[in-house]
Amino acid sequence: MVHSETMQGERLEKETPEQIYRRVFHELKPRTAPPPIQVQYRRFANVNSFIEFKEGRLLVRISDLLQKAPESVQEALAWILLCKLFRRQIPGRHRDRYRRYLNKGEVTRAVERLRQERGRKSILPPAGEHHDLLHIFDELNFRFFHGLMSQPLIGWSQTESRNILGHYDAAHNAIVLSRILDRKEAPVFVVEYVMYHEMLHLRHPVERRAGRRCIHTAEFRKAEEEFPRLRQAKEWMETVLWRLPARA
Ligand SMILES: [Zn+2]
Repeated sequence: MVHSETMQGERLEKETPEQIYRRVFHELKPRTAPPPIQVQYRRFANVNSFIEFKEGRLLVRISDLLQKAPESVQEALAWILLCKLFRRQIPGRHRDRYRRYLNKGEVTRAVERLRQERGRKSILPPAGEHHDLLHIFDELNFRFFHGLMSQPLIGWSQTESRNILGHYDAAHNAIVLSRILDRKEAPVFVVEYVMYHEMLHLRHPVERRAGRRCIHTAEFRKAEEEFPRLRQAKEWMETVLWRLPARA
């Protein structure tokens, strides 16, 4: 569904999403005339809410899961997205408001329903013996992505691969981590690194450059460098990982 600015006159008592964005824009940039603003809700997939200037307009795309969110949550998201755009610090009350809403039962259940509709994939549940992948995803989402990343299907692989420690399956919108990492010997920062890498695949879809698939673009690599213990994680994967005994 697309809310265009022509709808403004129809809703006098309630702000349209565009009006919310225009108001927040004005609060952040009082001396700049806001450009035309368009807010689109798109079918929930592996996509994050995002904002960009496009052809003289400010285009906002939001997961349709948030369409029925209360106005205060819509406003909180407007603050988050516009602060990101203008590289300003996000006011804590808006960040918290949005985070609280995402953690609410109704939203969690809606995500769960969508996961079920997408069908089953033969992966093990995210709560492992030693690491809880959902918890890790959630932490990383708020630490690196402002909590804006829609949660894909997440789980452990059936087999204990050492060659492929994680992959993002776009067809199922699923992140799968190798069960070899669900051990007490696997430090949490290693599991976090593998998850973070796969989350970047959601954030940076595969590009085609000169006919070649470019999976780890320069932009992707740059984002990956933001992971604090990248070197240590890679070192662990090259050494300790290969010394782990096979599971009995
Ligand atoms: Zn990769």
